[in-house]
Amino acid sequence: MDVLQTIQALREELNKHNYNYYVLDNPTISDYEFDVKLKELQELEAKHPEYFDENSPTQRVGGAITKNFETVLHESRMYSLDNSYSKEDLLDWEKRAQKILGDVPLEYTCELKYDGASISITYENGKLKRAVTRGDGFQGDDVTNNVKTIKAVPIQLKGDFPPKFDIRGEIILPFAGFEKMNLELIEIGESPYSNPRNTASGSLKLQDSSEVAKRPLDCLLYSLIGSNLPFASQFEGLEKARQWGFKVPKQAQLAKSMDDVFAFIDYWDIHRHDLPYETDGVVVKINSLQYQDELGYTAKSPRWAIAYKFKAEQVATRLLSIAYQVGRTGAITPVANLEPVQLAGTIVKRASLHNADQIQKLDIRVGDEVFVEKGGEIIPKIIAVDLDKRPQDSEPTIYIHSCPECETELVRKEGEAQHYCPNFYGCPPQIIGRIQHYISRKAMDIEGLGGETVALLFNNGLVKNYADLYELKKEQIIPLERMAEKSADNLINGIEKSKEVSFERVLFALGIRYVGETVAKKLAKHYKSIDAIAKATLMDLVLVDEIGEKIAQSVVEFFENTENSITIERLRGFGVQLEMGAHHDTTVSDLLAGKTFVVSGVFEKFSRDDLKKAIEDNGGKVGSSISKKTDYVIAGENMGPAKLEKASQLNVKIISEDDFIAMLNG
Ligand code: AMP
Ligand code: ZN
Repeated sequence: MDVLQTIQALREELNKHNYNYYVLDNPTISDYEFDVKLKELQELEAKHPEYFDENSPTQRVGGAITKNFETVLHESRMYSLDNSYSKEDLLDWEKRAQKILGDVPLEYTCELKYDGASISITYENGKLKRAVTRGDGFQGDDVTNNVKTIKAVPIQLKGDFPPKFDIRGEIILPFAGFEKMNLELIEIGESPYSNPRNTASGSLKLQDSSEVAKRPLDCLLYSLIGSNLPFASQFEGLEKARQWGFKVPKQAQLAKSMDDVFAFIDYWDIHRHDLPYETDGVVVKINSLQYQDELGYTAKSPRWAIAYKFKAEQVATRLLSIAYQVGRTGAITPVANLEPVQLAGTIVKRASLHNADQIQKLDIRVGDEVFVEKGGEIIPKIIAVDLDKRPQDSEPTIYIHSCPECETELVRKEGEAQHYCPNFYGCPPQIIGRIQHYISRKAMDIEGLGGETVALLFNNGLVKNYADLYELKKEQIIPLERMAEKSADNLINGIEKSKEVSFERVLFALGIRYVGETVAKKLAKHYKSIDAIAKATLMDLVLVDEIGEKIAQSVVEFFENTENSITIERLRGFGVQLEMGAHHDTTVSDLLAGKTFVVSGVFEKFSRDDLKKAIEDNGGKVGSSISKKTDYVIAGENMGPAKLEKASQLNVKIISEDDFIAMLNG
């Protein structure tokens, strides 16, 4: 095989695995094997720029920046749908259609109505050409670079696809991905997104496509547009699209009568809550394309389709009180305490009120009867007040002015919705939250110490700051509630071990606002030490790739603060890693002489090649498979189970990337 053939074979194979994973939800190789093949292709493409293809699976990781999204005319208009809210509405719609068509028997395709951002994607000769948002229906924005990063969207079709057509569908963000994104935001002190739909459509307009690639977006398709398409009905069209490689949800059903349609609606009105993504109704379409043609369009929507909207699940209940929570970053979140009530299968006692503006806008008052709705969010929200039932003596809600925990006067920055308690160093939930963040799994990952213990330590006056952890004595811990000799030992050992945690994670652990895991890695790689970061000016920082002004400002403020400087000096004194490990310089030593290593899996801090180089540079040997001669297996993520078993059978030590770094650091 020549290089081009190898490249093409790899592309085809990777496309197939993407399809198996993201469309069929049925992967046939491990993530690790996939990454290895992708890497191989990336390397070949880098060596042979003459074979560049904008539709290669390597382009899915994104990287293209779109400063201004170009406006593009839709070749055929993207219509809206008429809405209906009752079965009578649907029967009326059927009558209107039959009046135009004559009294012919009609069949319908019933589909779920996915709640996301509509998209129209053009394919030419089986290749993804362009993806455009709906816009005003006549023209939309070209978001091709971003849509290409969504793995469920095929970039190369298979089967008997026509030479040119548009396919339409909905870009959605499944609940699980939405919740994960929100947890990550909360972790770095940002406000969470309000709902999956807005987050999906916002994602399409991000300038940096590699950011879009990181978002767990999905794309569900429902309609093919073009001339001479090889099918005669909507339902066949869906099947064809599926065969060509598109993700077309299986729930779509052919209905022979309105009764079948009603059965479909009744079923999904209940079972939509089991779906992994949001749906807000059912779309009923007259199945025959010929009839669709005859029916045509009104000014805004097709006569051959209609949406049936589910009633949002809502209940009325009484607002008992409003509580104000203080987060790690000092952000205040108002929470409604409700008279417990049944909603969509669970008992609801609390609802989110978002912020002061929201309370004022809805004029929510304690004692009111409020309507509560459950959307994609974890906790439900209040959407309206029943003014007719408002008690006579009701008083407008006055938002708190001072912190419920430390009584400091709250501040609200220009343009921000949230109030903050500025008492960063004195407000208990902020102090506790910061230490909890420091010890958390993705940060210092301190074994033997959990969030509750942190609160316990704080409440007993033993720690006020994460540096205090390193001065804890066993005798101080044993007398605490639920503590004993053993648990105190574990705690002290866990804290001691955290001194080996790599600099980039320490940087994340410090809890600098807006400095999440990725940003911490970027900064650590760029500056190599905390001293260099502390010295960097706002101007220096914004010049670093992906560091915007908001982050830069926050970093500068953090290091300007004397208390933070003192804390960092203390951490340094305790031996916490405040600079990059030795492996990042090309140090050469004989530290690993006589030792054989096998490298397996995917690593965070090294590429596999760098890891091998580091072993050899330091006198070690790299083995290709695990044998009795192997001293260590360095295991990354996704190391295969067979290898794990073999290593343990042969009593070969399995170490992590961090253990390896520690080894190099002597
Ligand atoms: P609306 O925005 O309420 O006018 O509803 C029309 C929109 O519903 C369309 O533009 C599509 O984006 C969206 N939609 C979601 N699921 C479907 C589906 N199965 N068939 C047609 N449109 C759908
Ligand atoms: Zn406070």
